[in-house]
Amino acid sequence: MSEQVKVTGIVLSVYPIGENDRRLTILTKERGKIQVFARGCRKPNHPLFGVSQPLIYCEFMITEGRRFNYLNSAEGKNYFPHLKEDLEDIYYSTYFAELAEYFTVEGMDERNILNLLFVTFTAMEKKKIPLPLIRRIYELKILQYYGIGMEVFRCISCGKETELDTLSLERGGVLCHTCAHGSGQQSGSHTAHGDGYGGGYAPGGGDSSAGGSGNRGGTYGGAYSSTHLDPAVLYALQYVLSIPLQRLYSFVLKEEVFLEFQWIVKHFFRIHVEHRFKAGEMLEEL
Ligand SMILES: [Zn+2]
Repeated sequence: MSEQVKVTGIVLSVYPIGENDRRLTILTKERGKIQVFARGCRKPNHPLFGVSQPLIYCEFMITEGRRFNYLNSAEGKNYFPHLKEDLEDIYYSTYFAELAEYFTVEGMDERNILNLLFVTFTAMEKKKIPLPLIRRIYELKILQYYGIGMEVFRCISCGKETELDTLSLERGGVLCHTCAHGSGQQSGSHTAHGDGYGGGYAPGGGDSSAGGSGNRGGTYGGAYSSTHLDPAVLYALQYVLSIPLQRLYSFVLKEEVFLEFQWIVKHFFRIHVEHRFKAGEMLEEL
C-alpha cells in the first residue's frame, strides 16, 4: 500500500538517476531525513524540474511506498528564493545543507536541525550578519544538536561557574583559572595566544596533516590543546549554545572577538569531526 502525504522540508542534495530522474535527499519536519525519487524531472519543462533541486524549501507531495518514496508535486512557495543569487551565498548555503545531511540520520526526528537551517537561511536572506559569523554559529549549534556539545557555563574539572578563562577544545569545555593554571593537574596543557594560537595546528593550507588526528589522545602530552578564553568570546559561546533559535542570529562581534570565536569553533569542529566537507573546501577558496 502506498499513500500520498504532504511534507515540509528542504532539499539537501540531489543525485542523478538514469537519464531523466533524480534522487533527492529532503530534510522534513514530518519524516526527518528521507530519500525521494523524482521521476522524469530532468526533462525540460517537466513540472518537477524546478523543485527537484538543492536548497528548495517548500511543501512536497510525496507517495510513500514500501521501499521508495516518490515526488508528485511541490506546493506553496519556495521560502528562500534568494539563496542562489550569488556565488558566495550558493557556497555557504550548500555547505550548511551538506552539514545538515551529514549530521542527520534517517528515521530520526530531526526538527532541531531543520529549524536551525530555517533560521540560518533566514539570516542569510536578511544580510545583517556577515556570512563567516553565520557559518561559525551554525557549526557550533549543529554540533550541539548532534550531541557534540561544548560546556561553557561550568568548569569541566571542578564545576565552578566563575573565573572561566580557559577552553579545552578536546575535552569540549571551559576550565576555571585554578584548574587551568594551578596544582599541576593540567600540566600537559598550554595556553595559546596571538597569531599562532599554538594547539598544534598549521594555519591555513595543509589541513589534512594538521587537522585533529595528530592531537587525538594528546591528553597526556604537550599537544593537549587548551586556549585562553576572552570574556567576550566566552559570552558569545554561551549565547549561541543557550539562546532560543529565533534569536540565534541577532548579534555581531567586534573583529578581534570574531577572529577568536572563529578560531575556537573551527578547531573544535576539526577535532571532533573527522569528515571532510566538499562545500567546506570550496568555501576555503572564496
Ligand atoms: Zn575548575
